[in-house]
Amino acid sequence: MSPIPFFYTNQMLQYNMGQSHPMKPERLSMVKNLLQDYDLFDKELALYTPAPASVADIEAIHTPDFITALQSCESGQPRVDVRKYGFMTADNPLFEGIYSASMLYTGASLDAAQAVLDGEPAAVNISGGLHHAHAGRAAGFCVLNDCAAAIHRLRQKYRRVAYVDIDVHHGDGVQELFFSDPSVLTISIHENGRTLYPGTGSASEIGVNDGEGTSVNINIAAKASDEIWLQAWRSAAITILRDYNPEAIVLQMGADAHALDPLAHLMLTAQGWLKAVQDIINQGKPLVLLGGGGYNLATVTRMWTLATALVAGVELDNAVPQKSTFRKHEAFLRDVDEFLPSSSEYEYAAAKTRAFSVELEHNLREYYHIGRGSHNRIS
Ligand SMILES: [Zn+2]
Repeated sequence: MSPIPFFYTNQMLQYNMGQSHPMKPERLSMVKNLLQDYDLFDKELALYTPAPASVADIEAIHTPDFITALQSCESGQPRVDVRKYGFMTADNPLFEGIYSASMLYTGASLDAAQAVLDGEPAAVNISGGLHHAHAGRAAGFCVLNDCAAAIHRLRQKYRRVAYVDIDVHHGDGVQELFFSDPSVLTISIHENGRTLYPGTGSASEIGVNDGEGTSVNINIAAKASDEIWLQAWRSAAITILRDYNPEAIVLQMGADAHALDPLAHLMLTAQGWLKAVQDIINQGKPLVLLGGGGYNLATVTRMWTLATALVAGVELDNAVPQKSTFRKHEAFLRDVDEFLPSSSEYEYAAAKTRAFSVELEHNLREYYHIGRGSHNRIS
Protein backbone atom coordinates (compact mmCIF):
# COMPACT_ATOMS: atom_id res chain seq x y z
CA MET A 1 0.00 0.00 0.00
CA SER A 2 1.41 3.41 -0.91
CA PRO A 3 1.47 6.04 1.85
CA ILE A 4 -1.80 7.87 2.55
CA PRO A 5 -1.56 11.67 2.11
CA PHE A 6 -1.89 13.50 5.43
CA PHE A 7 -2.24 17.27 5.06
CA TYR A 8 -0.80 19.22 7.96
CA THR A 9 1.16 22.34 8.83
CA ASN A 10 1.68 24.12 12.14
CA GLN A 11 0.07 27.15 10.45
CA MET A 12 -3.24 25.36 11.11
CA LEU A 13 -2.82 26.22 14.79
CA GLN A 14 -3.61 29.85 13.86
CA TYR A 15 -7.29 28.86 13.82
CA ASN A 16 -7.44 29.80 17.47
CA MET A 17 -10.57 31.17 19.07
CA GLY A 18 -8.89 31.95 22.38
CA GLN A 19 -7.82 30.45 25.69
CA SER A 20 -11.34 29.97 27.05
CA HIS A 21 -12.80 28.55 23.82
CA PRO A 22 -13.46 24.79 23.87
CA MET A 23 -11.86 24.15 20.47
CA LYS A 24 -8.15 23.89 21.14
CA PRO A 25 -5.81 24.12 18.14
CA GLU A 26 -3.14 22.05 19.88
CA ARG A 27 -5.27 18.92 19.37
CA LEU A 28 -4.05 19.03 15.74
CA SER A 29 -0.36 19.12 16.61
CA MET A 30 -0.90 16.47 19.29
CA VAL A 31 -2.33 14.07 16.69
CA LYS A 32 0.44 14.80 14.22
CA ASN A 33 3.08 14.32 16.92
CA LEU A 34 1.56 11.08 18.15
CA LEU A 35 1.42 9.69 14.60
CA GLN A 36 5.07 10.66 14.33
CA ASP A 37 5.87 8.92 17.63
CA TYR A 38 4.36 5.75 16.17
CA ASP A 39 6.71 6.24 13.17
CA LEU A 40 3.81 6.35 10.69
CA PHE A 41 5.41 9.04 8.55
CA ASP A 42 8.13 6.61 7.49
CA LYS A 43 5.99 4.39 5.29
CA GLU A 44 2.27 4.53 6.02
CA LEU A 45 1.57 8.26 5.79
CA ALA A 46 2.94 10.96 3.51
CA LEU A 47 3.03 14.41 5.11
CA TYR A 48 2.02 17.26 2.78
CA THR A 49 1.76 20.98 3.47
CA PRO A 50 -1.66 22.13 2.24
CA ALA A 51 -2.30 25.24 0.16
CA PRO A 52 -5.01 27.73 1.18
CA ALA A 53 -8.32 27.56 -0.67
CA SER A 54 -8.87 30.04 -3.51
CA VAL A 55 -11.72 32.55 -3.45
CA ALA A 56 -13.29 30.66 -6.39
CA ASP A 57 -13.31 27.48 -4.28
CA ILE A 58 -15.29 29.09 -1.48
CA GLU A 59 -17.55 31.02 -3.86
CA ALA A 60 -18.95 27.64 -4.86
CA ILE A 61 -20.24 27.22 -1.29
CA HIS A 62 -20.62 30.62 0.37
CA THR A 63 -22.51 33.82 -0.50
CA PRO A 64 -20.50 36.79 -1.82
CA ASP A 65 -21.52 39.07 1.06
CA PHE A 66 -20.47 36.48 3.64
CA ILE A 67 -17.07 36.14 1.97
CA THR A 68 -16.64 39.92 1.96
CA ALA A 69 -17.60 40.06 5.65
CA LEU A 70 -15.11 37.30 6.50
CA GLN A 71 -12.34 39.09 4.62
CA SER A 72 -13.09 42.26 6.59
CA CYS A 73 -12.58 40.26 9.82
CA GLU A 74 -8.96 39.36 8.99
CA SER A 75 -7.55 42.15 11.21
CA GLY A 76 -9.73 40.97 14.10
CA GLN A 77 -11.40 44.40 14.08
CA PRO A 78 -13.87 44.75 11.19
CA ARG A 79 -15.16 48.22 10.35
CA VAL A 80 -18.60 46.87 9.45
CA ASP A 81 -21.09 45.00 11.65
CA VAL A 82 -20.37 41.33 11.05
CA ARG A 83 -22.73 39.98 13.72
CA LYS A 84 -25.37 39.12 11.17
CA TYR A 85 -22.87 36.74 9.59
CA GLY A 86 -22.52 34.81 12.83
CA PHE A 87 -19.29 36.45 14.01
CA MET A 88 -18.54 38.01 17.41
CA THR A 89 -20.51 35.41 19.34
CA ALA A 90 -19.26 33.19 22.18
CA ASP A 91 -19.06 30.27 19.72
CA ASN A 92 -17.49 32.25 16.89
CA PRO A 93 -15.36 35.07 18.32
CA LEU A 94 -13.16 37.05 15.98
CA PHE A 95 -9.41 36.63 15.99
CA GLU A 96 -6.64 38.15 13.97
CA GLY A 97 -5.99 36.11 10.83
CA ILE A 98 -9.43 34.42 10.87
CA TYR A 99 -9.79 34.66 7.07
CA SER A 100 -6.36 33.17 6.32
CA ALA A 101 -6.77 30.44 8.93
CA SER A 102 -10.19 29.49 7.55
CA MET A 103 -8.87 29.43 3.99
CA LEU A 104 -6.06 27.13 5.14
CA TYR A 105 -8.19 24.43 6.78
CA THR A 106 -10.53 24.59 3.78
CA GLY A 107 -7.61 24.37 1.37
CA ALA A 108 -6.37 21.27 3.20
CA SER A 109 -9.75 19.58 2.68
CA LEU A 110 -9.66 20.55 -0.99
CA ASP A 111 -6.13 19.16 -1.28
CA ALA A 112 -7.31 15.91 0.32
CA ALA A 113 -10.23 15.74 -2.15
CA GLN A 114 -7.87 16.47 -5.04
CA ALA A 115 -5.47 13.73 -3.91
CA VAL A 116 -8.38 11.29 -4.08
CA LEU A 117 -9.41 12.62 -7.49
CA ASP A 118 -5.83 12.06 -8.61
CA GLY A 119 -6.04 8.39 -7.65
CA GLU A 120 -5.14 8.08 -3.96
CA PRO A 121 -7.42 5.60 -2.16
CA ALA A 122 -7.75 7.98 0.80
CA ALA A 123 -6.46 11.31 2.17
CA VAL A 124 -6.67 12.95 5.59
CA ASN A 125 -7.18 16.52 6.90
CA ILE A 126 -7.84 16.55 10.63
CA SER A 127 -8.11 20.37 10.67
CA GLY A 128 -11.26 20.17 8.51
CA GLY A 129 -14.74 18.82 9.13
CA LEU A 130 -16.20 22.18 10.16
CA HIS A 131 -19.73 21.11 9.35
CA HIS A 132 -21.83 23.81 11.03
CA ALA A 133 -20.82 26.65 8.67
CA HIS A 134 -23.73 27.85 6.53
CA ALA A 135 -23.67 29.46 3.09
CA GLY A 136 -24.01 32.92 4.60
CA ARG A 137 -23.24 32.50 8.29
CA ALA A 138 -20.52 31.22 10.59
CA ALA A 139 -21.80 28.93 13.37
CA GLY A 140 -20.75 26.39 15.99
CA PHE A 141 -16.97 27.15 15.91
CA CYS A 142 -17.06 26.83 12.08
CA VAL A 143 -16.39 29.62 9.59
CA LEU A 144 -16.04 28.04 6.15
CA ASN A 145 -17.71 24.76 5.25
CA ASP A 146 -14.68 22.80 4.08
CA CYS A 147 -16.72 19.56 4.00
CA ALA A 148 -18.98 21.05 1.35
CA ALA A 149 -15.98 22.43 -0.56
CA ALA A 150 -14.40 18.95 -0.61
CA ILE A 151 -17.67 17.36 -1.78
CA HIS A 152 -17.98 19.98 -4.50
CA ARG A 153 -14.45 19.20 -5.69
CA LEU A 154 -15.13 15.45 -5.75
CA ARG A 155 -18.26 16.06 -7.82
CA GLN A 156 -15.98 17.21 -10.68
CA LYS A 157 -15.36 13.54 -11.34
CA TYR A 158 -17.79 11.47 -9.30
CA ARG A 159 -21.51 11.46 -10.07
CA ARG A 160 -22.57 10.42 -6.57
CA VAL A 161 -20.75 11.37 -3.39
CA ALA A 162 -21.70 10.33 0.14
CA TYR A 163 -20.97 12.55 3.13
CA VAL A 164 -20.96 10.60 6.39
CA ASP A 165 -20.79 12.54 9.66
CA ILE A 166 -20.08 10.69 12.93
CA ASP A 167 -19.60 13.86 14.99
CA VAL A 168 -21.90 13.96 18.04
CA HIS A 169 -23.53 17.11 16.64
CA HIS A 170 -25.82 17.19 13.60
CA GLY A 171 -23.98 18.05 10.36
CA ASP A 172 -26.48 20.81 9.68
CA GLY A 173 -24.42 23.07 7.42
CA VAL A 174 -23.53 20.28 5.00
CA GLN A 175 -27.05 18.84 4.97
CA GLU A 176 -28.52 22.26 4.23
CA LEU A 177 -26.15 22.89 1.30
CA PHE A 178 -27.10 19.62 -0.43
CA PHE A 179 -30.69 19.22 0.81
CA SER A 180 -32.20 19.24 -2.69
CA ASP A 181 -29.21 17.65 -4.47
CA PRO A 182 -29.64 13.94 -5.32
CA SER A 183 -25.96 13.63 -6.28
CA VAL A 184 -24.89 14.03 -2.65
CA LEU A 185 -26.10 11.68 0.10
CA THR A 186 -25.63 13.10 3.60
CA ILE A 187 -25.76 10.76 6.59
CA SER A 188 -25.37 12.22 10.07
CA ILE A 189 -25.41 10.18 13.27
CA HIS A 190 -25.73 12.48 16.26
CA GLU A 191 -27.15 13.06 19.69
CA ASN A 192 -30.79 14.06 19.35
CA GLY A 193 -31.36 17.80 18.94
CA ARG A 194 -33.56 18.07 22.02
CA THR A 195 -30.49 17.67 24.21
CA LEU A 196 -27.72 19.07 22.00
CA TYR A 197 -26.68 21.88 19.65
CA PRO A 198 -27.70 22.71 16.92
CA GLY A 199 -31.15 21.24 17.62
CA THR A 200 -31.77 20.12 14.03
CA GLY A 201 -31.30 16.72 12.39
CA SER A 202 -34.51 14.91 13.24
CA ALA A 203 -35.41 11.74 11.35
CA SER A 204 -38.05 13.69 9.44
CA GLU A 205 -35.38 15.71 7.58
CA ILE A 206 -34.92 13.55 4.49
CA GLY A 207 -34.21 16.13 1.76
CA VAL A 208 -36.50 18.00 -0.62
CA ASN A 209 -37.44 17.97 -4.31
CA ASP A 210 -34.98 15.89 -6.33
CA GLY A 211 -32.97 15.38 -3.15
CA GLU A 212 -35.79 13.68 -1.29
CA GLY A 213 -34.39 10.57 0.38
CA THR A 214 -30.77 11.74 0.24
CA SER A 215 -30.57 13.34 3.70
CA VAL A 216 -30.37 10.79 6.49
CA ASN A 217 -30.42 11.57 10.21
CA ILE A 218 -29.70 8.84 12.73
CA ASN A 219 -30.68 10.15 16.15
CA ILE A 220 -29.11 8.86 19.35
CA ALA A 221 -30.45 9.47 22.84
CA ALA A 222 -28.25 10.99 25.55
CA LYS A 223 -26.29 8.43 27.61
CA ALA A 224 -26.13 5.92 24.75
CA SER A 225 -23.11 3.61 24.91
CA ASP A 226 -21.14 1.86 22.13
CA GLU A 227 -23.65 -0.92 21.65
CA ILE A 228 -26.68 1.35 21.25
CA TRP A 229 -24.85 3.75 18.94
CA LEU A 230 -23.42 0.97 16.75
CA GLN A 231 -26.76 -0.80 16.49
CA ALA A 232 -28.43 2.39 15.20
CA TRP A 233 -25.46 3.08 12.92
CA ARG A 234 -25.31 -0.35 11.34
CA SER A 235 -29.05 -0.83 10.91
CA ALA A 236 -29.29 2.36 8.84
CA ALA A 237 -26.04 3.88 7.60
CA ILE A 238 -24.41 0.84 6.05
CA THR A 239 -27.53 -0.40 4.24
CA ILE A 240 -28.28 3.07 2.91
CA LEU A 241 -24.68 3.53 1.74
CA ARG A 242 -24.77 0.22 -0.11
CA ASP A 243 -28.09 1.06 -1.75
CA TYR A 244 -26.98 4.57 -2.76
CA ASN A 245 -23.66 3.18 -4.01
CA PRO A 246 -21.58 6.40 -4.00
CA GLU A 247 -18.43 6.69 -6.08
CA ALA A 248 -16.58 8.46 -3.26
CA ILE A 249 -17.10 9.13 0.44
CA VAL A 250 -16.25 12.07 2.69
CA LEU A 251 -16.09 11.03 6.35
CA GLN A 252 -16.37 13.77 8.96
CA MET A 253 -14.87 12.03 11.99
CA GLY A 254 -15.79 14.32 14.88
CA ALA A 255 -14.58 12.65 18.07
CA ASP A 256 -16.99 14.31 20.51
CA ALA A 257 -19.34 11.34 20.97
CA HIS A 258 -16.73 10.00 23.39
CA ALA A 259 -17.89 9.58 27.00
CA LEU A 260 -15.19 11.96 28.25
CA ASP A 261 -16.02 14.78 25.83
CA PRO A 262 -17.18 17.82 27.80
CA LEU A 263 -19.71 19.19 25.30
CA ALA A 264 -22.10 16.28 24.71
CA HIS A 265 -23.79 13.40 26.50
CA LEU A 266 -23.00 10.16 24.69
CA MET A 267 -20.85 7.46 26.27
CA LEU A 268 -18.77 5.99 23.47
CA THR A 269 -15.30 4.52 23.74
CA ALA A 270 -12.55 5.24 21.24
CA GLN A 271 -12.69 1.66 19.96
CA GLY A 272 -16.51 1.63 19.69
CA TRP A 273 -16.47 4.78 17.58
CA LEU A 274 -13.59 3.36 15.53
CA LYS A 275 -15.84 0.53 14.34
CA ALA A 276 -17.86 3.04 12.36
CA VAL A 277 -14.65 4.33 10.76
CA GLN A 278 -13.75 0.74 9.90
CA ASP A 279 -17.22 0.20 8.39
CA ILE A 280 -16.64 3.19 6.10
CA ILE A 281 -13.15 2.02 5.10
CA ASN A 282 -14.66 -1.40 4.35
CA GLN A 283 -16.86 0.18 1.67
CA GLY A 284 -13.69 0.30 -0.43
CA LYS A 285 -14.53 3.69 -1.97
CA PRO A 286 -12.18 6.63 -2.52
CA LEU A 287 -12.26 8.29 0.89
CA VAL A 288 -11.60 11.79 2.24
CA LEU A 289 -11.24 11.85 6.03
CA LEU A 290 -11.85 15.10 7.85
CA GLY A 291 -11.70 16.06 11.53
CA GLY A 292 -14.49 17.87 13.34
CA GLY A 293 -15.46 18.16 16.99
CA GLY A 294 -13.41 16.78 19.85
CA TYR A 295 -12.96 18.84 23.01
CA ASN A 296 -11.15 16.51 25.35
CA LEU A 297 -7.56 16.84 24.17
CA ALA A 298 -6.54 13.34 25.22
CA THR A 299 -9.52 11.49 23.72
CA VAL A 300 -9.61 13.38 20.41
CA THR A 301 -5.89 12.75 19.99
CA ARG A 302 -6.27 9.03 20.67
CA MET A 303 -9.28 8.68 18.34
CA TRP A 304 -7.85 10.52 15.35
CA THR A 305 -4.53 8.73 15.72
CA LEU A 306 -6.34 5.37 15.71
CA ALA A 307 -8.55 6.37 12.75
CA THR A 308 -5.63 7.68 10.69
CA ALA A 309 -3.64 4.51 11.35
CA LEU A 310 -6.65 2.40 10.42
CA VAL A 311 -7.02 4.05 7.01
CA ALA A 312 -3.29 3.61 6.50
CA GLY A 313 -3.73 -0.10 7.17
CA VAL A 314 -1.81 -0.25 10.45
CA GLU A 315 -2.90 -1.69 13.77
CA LEU A 316 -1.20 0.39 16.44
CA ASP A 317 0.25 -1.01 19.63
CA ASN A 318 -2.11 0.00 22.43
CA ALA A 319 0.76 1.23 24.60
CA VAL A 320 1.82 4.76 23.63
CA PRO A 321 5.55 4.72 22.70
CA GLN A 322 7.89 5.51 25.59
CA LYS A 323 9.41 8.45 23.71
CA SER A 324 6.04 10.15 23.25
CA THR A 325 5.15 13.26 25.25
CA PHE A 326 1.52 12.12 24.90
CA ARG A 327 2.25 9.75 27.80
CA LYS A 328 1.72 12.79 30.04
CA HIS A 329 -1.96 12.51 29.05
CA GLU A 330 -2.50 8.80 28.50
CA ALA A 331 -0.42 5.63 28.42
CA PHE A 332 -2.84 3.72 26.14
CA LEU A 333 -4.72 4.48 22.93
CA ARG A 334 -7.88 2.51 23.59
CA ASP A 335 -10.25 2.83 26.51
CA VAL A 336 -9.93 0.11 29.11
CA ASP A 337 -13.64 -0.62 29.41
CA GLU A 338 -16.92 0.38 27.93
CA PHE A 339 -18.50 3.37 29.67
CA LEU A 340 -21.81 2.12 30.98
CA PRO A 341 -24.60 4.28 32.35
CA SER A 342 -26.78 2.98 35.15
CA SER A 343 -29.16 0.24 34.05
CA SER A 344 -32.18 2.57 34.07
CA GLU A 345 -30.31 5.15 31.98
CA TYR A 346 -29.21 2.39 29.62
CA GLU A 347 -32.76 1.08 29.19
CA TYR A 348 -34.06 4.56 28.56
CA ALA A 349 -31.31 5.43 26.03
CA ALA A 350 -31.78 2.09 24.24
CA ALA A 351 -35.56 2.43 23.99
CA LYS A 352 -35.42 6.05 22.90
CA THR A 353 -32.75 5.38 20.26
CA ARG A 354 -34.73 2.39 19.00
CA ALA A 355 -37.77 4.63 18.59
CA PHE A 356 -35.68 7.12 16.59
CA SER A 357 -34.46 4.27 14.34
CA VAL A 358 -37.99 3.04 13.72
CA GLU A 359 -39.02 6.57 12.72
CA LEU A 360 -36.05 6.85 10.36
CA GLU A 361 -36.84 3.51 8.75
CA HIS A 362 -40.45 4.52 8.30
CA ASN A 363 -39.44 7.78 6.59
CA LEU A 364 -36.83 6.24 4.30
CA ARG A 365 -38.03 2.72 3.57
CA GLU A 366 -39.38 3.68 0.16
CA TYR A 367 -35.84 4.71 -0.84
CA TYR A 368 -33.67 2.03 0.78
CA HIS A 369 -33.79 -1.57 1.95
CA ILE A 370 -34.33 -0.63 5.57
CA GLY A 371 -37.11 -1.26 8.03
CA ARG A 372 -38.58 -4.13 6.05
CA GLY A 373 -37.59 -6.97 8.33
CA SER A 374 -38.11 -7.28 12.04
CA HIS A 375 -36.24 -4.62 13.94
CA ASN A 376 -33.43 -6.08 15.99
CA ARG A 377 -33.89 -5.36 19.61
CA ILE A 378 -31.01 -4.18 21.70
CA SER A 379 -30.63 -5.70 25.21
ZN1 LIG B 1 -19.36 18.20 17.27
